Amino acid sequence: MKKQNGFTLVELVIVIAVLGILAGLAIPYFMEAREEAAKKECLANRTQILRMFHAQQAQGYSGDLTAFLAEVTQKENNENKYFNFIPGCADNGKYYAATTYSGNGVVCDVHVGDSSVMASINSMYEKMLNSIKNSDGSINNEALKELFGKDFSGILGKNDYLREAFNKYLAENGYNVWIEGKGVNGDDTVYFKFHSYDNGQGLLVYANANGKFQNSGDWTANYVYNPNDSKWYYFEKGVYVSNIENLNAAEAWKKIIQQGKGYEEVSLNGNNFVKA
Ligand SMILES: [Zn+2]
Repeated sequence: MKKQNGFTLVELVIVIAVLGILAGLAIPYFMEAREEAAKKECLANRTQILRMFHAQQAQGYSGDLTAFLAEVTQKENNENKYFNFIPGCADNGKYYAATTYSGNGVVCDVHVGDSSVMASINSMYEKMLNSIKNSDGSINNEALKELFGKDFSGILGKNDYLREAFNKYLAENGYNVWIEGKGVNGDDTVYFKFHSYDNGQGLLVYANANGKFQNSGDWTANYVYNPNDSKWYYFEKGVYVSNIENLNAAEAWKKIIQQGKGYEEVSLNGNNFVKA
């Protein structure tokens, strides 16, 4: 009988199957290791940024942490004044400054739970939530306005990312309001936003399907709550809701509809808009 060289098909299939099983076991570990490395690198970068910020402050840097972050993380500028690399997140997390209450640090929206400042951030949210809760546990709108502040100068007024993060925190704590819903077409997700009017005395609520809170420059809304008649209106083509900070409710609404191209009344059913 001719001596057989190499492997039989059955042997090959077994070897391939075994290799497949081994790969299946190993890959999750590699993934985990990669995730761990990205997390650690992200935290190290954020720590570096904060240290550099404090060092620059000591030398007279007058901007706040948000401004500093914008400077050090901009990708177009290869001539980074402060680092010889662009400190960022390997998982494309966005950095934002948490500079209120006891929390002073750089937070990554992907690695938010791993941040060294997370404990103080959470205690800040807790304080904020407690400050806007009625005794029956519902949200006190007057107190919420305080967080936005006069002229948009409050904690939530100043920082889009903090606002979004706080909204998430509210959601996690059972306050499933103003986060997101469905638009009148049913297929689009709308994100609720806020804007102050009447020199901080009023809080305009609006929603749109075009973006998230991350789009800080996005002032175009599809849905606007009219504080004068306490009804929601749908602007199919969107409407600009900015430049109302110093107007009273009636003036603010007038300005909004002047900028919109037609609107219709809608109602809010839970977090979902429906045409009247
Ligand atoms: Zn990150």
